[in-house]
Order: sequence, then structure tokens, then C-alpha cells
Amino acid sequence: MKHNCSFRDKKIETMSREELESLQIIKLREIVASALKTDFYKERLNSIGLSDAKDIKGFEDFRKIPFTTKDDLRNAFPYGMLSVDKKDVVRMHASSGTTGTPTVIYFSQDDLDAWTEIVARSVVCTGCSNSDVFQNMMTYGLFTGGLGVHYGAEKSGMMVIPTSSGNTMRQLKLMKDFQTTVVHATPSYLLHMFHQVEAEGFSLSDFNLKKALIGAEPHSEDTRKKIEALYGIDAYNSYGLSEMNGPGVAFECEYKDGMHVWEDGYIAEIVDRYTLNPIDEGEGELVLTNLIRHATPILRYRTRDLTEFVSGDCACGRTHRRIKRIKGRTDDMLIINGVNVFPSQIEEIIMKLPEIGNNYLIEVSKQGDLDKLTVKTEVNNQIFTDDTRDLNKLKGKIKETLKATIFINPEVSLHETGSLPVTQGKAVRVIDHRDSN
Ligand code: ADP
Ligand code: ZN
Repeated sequence: MKHNCSFRDKKIETMSREELESLQIIKLREIVASALKTDFYKERLNSIGLSDAKDIKGFEDFRKIPFTTKDDLRNAFPYGMLSVDKKDVVRMHASSGTTGTPTVIYFSQDDLDAWTEIVARSVVCTGCSNSDVFQNMMTYGLFTGGLGVHYGAEKSGMMVIPTSSGNTMRQLKLMKDFQTTVVHATPSYLLHMFHQVEAEGFSLSDFNLKKALIGAEPHSEDTRKKIEALYGIDAYNSYGLSEMNGPGVAFECEYKDGMHVWEDGYIAEIVDRYTLNPIDEGEGELVLTNLIRHATPILRYRTRDLTEFVSGDCACGRTHRRIKRIKGRTDDMLIINGVNVFPSQIEEIIMKLPEIGNNYLIEVSKQGDLDKLTVKTEVNNQIFTDDTRDLNKLKGKIKETLKATIFINPEVSLHETGSLPVTQGKAVRVIDHRDSN
């Protein structure tokens, strides 16, 4: 039997702030108890004199916990942050690290169930119900966007079509054949897909689309409006990151006025980007604590995402605080068609190849509505006097190696030694031609 969308969890969603905060402290103690079972946090928390979760009495104690960074996760690779016996782990996901080492998160069945429930609540929050047909166009696999939303969407009672990303012709055909009402995709892919509708022999009237859930990459209010106008639908912003499970951390409700952070699942802080002190107003870096994943607990994680809290109450009646759309990042991570890439990953790969010279340049631009990555690199001049087949072989090799590591198919161009621009002072290695939102 289908669920009747009980995931509009009124009791939790409209709890008073006091109740919500007491619930957070109770859950925090539980998650700190799990954290103390990991090698990493045992050392970290003991160093501030915390060896028993019961010592956390309130938010003051919580704020003494040092921040966790992506580097911490990378250094703990592969099992330094695991708090349960490996036999209790049922799933892992991974995302890009700052260099070749990925960051890994593990889930027990209970962790997955808690995540699923919060995603189900998120999709219902945008008005989805069991009469919807949901096409999930996010990549299934190590990324959390596909599988993470999949189970929550099923739990909400929708019929889920797990298409994963890409293959626009097939996406459109399935949308028509099954009269898809809701899609989940990156905003750039939806813009791209729109321009393929006619080219692939379809017209908008073939479809029955009502809503899109969009996320995984920064986008502006104008982009949202454009998607809504092109397809004649409502688009809702969805925010998440794998360290906090993935999708379902914060979601817009029907009022589209900021994303509700599900505060029974996460503690959200915004810290001044320079002093790192928590602030209640104004823009800063979002710091998140995951209260629902015990197999890999992560406390006070510096997301590097810039945002601010929306003040006042939301017209929907939900009490969970809202954050504004993500304005940017405090590090150099690039998001290319929803996939995260650090320039250092690219550097590490190309500099390993003996034919490569000293200078390189990473360019990101728009090709139509999609992002395009170009890697320009200097090579030893000897190469240019060789057979052009050797040049093409080298290009192919660089492309393949990059694709295998960063999951993006880049354009590669080879240049003579000394021909790429050299900057005075700090080298400029990345040029992003896309509009900054
Ligand atoms: P995802 O699969 O959601 O991209 P990752 O962990 O790979 O998960 O990447 C998370 C990062 O993606 C976030 O820290 C943020 O920079 C970006 N991101 C995710 N959702 C959004 C969104 N709705 N708006 C802007 N940026 C987002
Ligand atoms: Zn709301």
C-alpha cells in the first residue's frame, strides 16, 4: 500500500524554538557519544577536556567543540571517523577531497532510515504527494544526489523514475511516456534540457511537468525564475552536502523564501568568515553538525558555503530556521555542472605527467547552458616537433586521466613552453568566465 504522505510531520516541523533546541541538545549528546568512539574525535574532544557526552549541558559547551574541516576528513581516510563496527555499515558515499584522497562517509541502516525520512519530509515540503511521478535526474553512484533523494522520494509515496543524469533524449521520452510531474536536477541541466526539447522532436505540451527540485550548484534567483518561466513550473531550491548526508539538509517550502534547515537533524551555525565567531545576522560561513548519522559523526563542519539566516517567521508555519541561497564559497572549489572539483586535484594529475611543463591554466566557461572545463597546459617543446599523432596521444592521455579522477570530461589544449601568461606575484591558475550570481 502507498504511504499517505504522513511526512508532513507537523509536530516536528512546527515545534517551538525552545522544544527544538532541547531536542537538539539531547541528540547532540547522543552524537557526541558516537563521536567519542572514533579515533579522530576521541583525540580531538579529549584535547578540550571532553571525554563524556553527558558533560554537554547546552550550546555553550557545544561551541567549545573545535571545527571539523574537509582536511580532517581526508586525513582520517579511510576509517578514522568510523564509530561503529564495519559489519554495521550498509552504505558508503564519497565526494572529492582537496587532492586525490576522497572524503568518505558511512551509514548504518538506522542512519539511512533517518536520512530517508528527512528527505521525504523535504519533498513533501515543496508540495509533492503520492500522486506525483518523480524523475530523478541526479547522478546515482558515489555522489549522494541520486540515491539520497531516491529513497526519500519513494518513502513519500511518489512513483520514482531513477533515470540518473545525462541522456537527454531518454529523459524527455520518459517524461512524456510516464507523464512525469516532478524532476530533480541541477539548474544548469534543466536549462540545457529545455533547448533540446524541440531538437529531439518533442513539444512542451507532451509533458505534464509541475515542479522541479533544483540544487547541487550555486544559482541565482533569476535562474530559478527562468526555469520556472520556460517550463511553466515551480522550482524549489534544495541544499545539501555529502558530509551532512547529502540532499535534505535545507529545502524551500511552498513560499520559496529561504531554505528551512531541518533543525531536528542538523545544528546550523553561521560564523564570521574571518573571526569564525558565530553570528546571528549577516552573511558568513555555514557550519553544520549532523545529528542523525552515527556511523560517521561530523561535528561543527565548516562547509565553506556563504549564506545568512532569513529573519522572521515563515508564512508556512514551520519553525525551522531558513538560510538564504548560497552566495559563494570561501575556498577555491569549483562546481562544474554540479560536480565539485578542486584546482589542486587537476594540478596533481597533470604535474605527474613527464611531458608537462611548468605552467597551466584552468578555464571554466559556459557552453550553451552547461559548464565547460578547459585545461591549458604547457608541454616540453620537443613534443611539437614530434609526429602530431604523439600530440593527440598526449592530449588523449591527459583527458582520460583527468576524467577518471574528477569525473568531468575536460577540453585539453597543449601550449609551447613559456606561451601561457605569467602573472606577477601569486599565480592565477583559474579563470572562471561564468557569471557570478
Ligand atoms: P552535491 O551532490 O549536493 O553537490 P557534494 O557534497 O558533492 O553534494 O557538494 C556539496 C556542495 O555543493 C555544497 O557544499 C555547496 O557548495 C554546493 N551546493 C549544493 N546544493 C547547493 C544549492 N542548492 N545551492 C548552491 N550550492 C549548492
Ligand atoms: Zn516555510
